[in-house]
Amino acid sequence: MDECIFCRIASGEIPATIVKRTPEALAFRDLNPQAPSHLLVIPTRHVSAVRDANLPADEAMLGRLLQFSAEVATELGLDKGGYRLVTNTGPDAGQSVFHLHFHLLGGRSLAWPPG
Ligand code: 5GP
Ligand code: ZN
Repeated sequence: MDECIFCRIASGEIPATIVKRTPEALAFRDLNPQAPSHLLVIPTRHVSAVRDANLPADEAMLGRLLQFSAEVATELGLDKGGYRLVTNTGPDAGQSVFHLHFHLLGGRSLAWPPG
């Protein structure tokens, strides 16, 4: 998707601070961090949101994306203190970029429930 900002980050067309990459997944730092560590984990292939995944074909990719997110958290040293992995879906959740992404937040105590 040419106009999708995260597709353009995945292709290298738009710069980002990349933390970890595989052919199907990418973790990079959020431009407007809400915690000391705030990363976005995306599939490199365009999927609009978790509800728009093509099931069952995308099941394995989604599972690997979660595993990849956990690996990034461990590599950043977040697993001991803990972290949050969250995906906003649709307007009530405040989704602003329509390419599936997990926010990986850590490095401070996180309030619950979120606003
Ligand atoms: P959403 O609101 O869809 O859950 O999250 C989108 C996230 O993408 C926001 O946290 C926002 O700061 C981040 N973001 C938007 N544009 C860019 C960009 O060009 N580069 C990076 N690194 N993050 C972005
Ligand atoms: Zn995209």
